Amino acid sequence: MSTYQSVRLACRACGLEQPLRYALTINLGRHPALEEEILAGTLNRLRCVECAEITEFDEPVAVIDFARRWWLTCFPKRELVHYRALAVAVRHDFVQNILAGPERVHPLLEDPWQVRLVFGLDALREKLLVWRSGIDEAALEALKLALVQSEPARAFAPIMLQSAQDDQLELRASDGVIVLPRNLLSAPPPSRFNRDELLCDPFVSYQRWLIVSEPLSSMSSASTILATPRSSAPSRLRDQ
Ligand SMILES: [Zn+2]
Repeated sequence: MSTYQSVRLACRACGLEQPLRYALTINLGRHPALEEEILAGTLNRLRCVECAEITEFDEPVAVIDFARRWWLTCFPKRELVHYRALAVAVRHDFVQNILAGPERVHPLLEDPWQVRLVFGLDALREKLLVWRSGIDEAALEALKLALVQSEPARAFAPIMLQSAQDDQLELRASDGVIVLPRNLLSAPPPSRFNRDELLCDPFVSYQRWLIVSEPLSSMSSASTILATPRSSAPSRLRDQ
């Protein structure tokens, strides 16, 4: 199943408070329409009835897909500075719910899972796009790191894959949209890149080389979705 909650959210442009029903946990196998919402950039976003401005509800979302072995946790962008602690928490959440989960889940372990941590709905969209497009995650992150090294100001905002065609990639950076031939994914990685380090935990992002991770405060809002792993995540399993 997928779970929802309701919140009253103020439009970021005109301030009008409106109700938003947002997804907290998503089972893509059961609700493929939510995958399309993620990719369309409409999931957990409010479109103002007065001024049509889009306001993002930037709070944790947990996504699972049993058939494709995806375990994906999205935290608010403001929590990026805690990526190391959250990566440990996400891995623990996965182990508790899948590796140490109900007996009937065990056959699923024949295939490895993709356990990932992302920050913000744009990054959630990007990860689904990358997987669906068959792009090598490490090659893409190496390419982003190279883009930062060629223009250091790009370090101040995350570089996101916007679209992927057979022959080209479109990425959004702080200085605009960058269109590149897809075969650049095969180029040698930049000197600072280290594949093993990139894949050492669920935060598979070039940003780990740009940000100093701080300890997670017990007051962190991101901890809410992990604070109840036995009640939230298993609910993602129950209807399998
Ligand atoms: Zn408005």
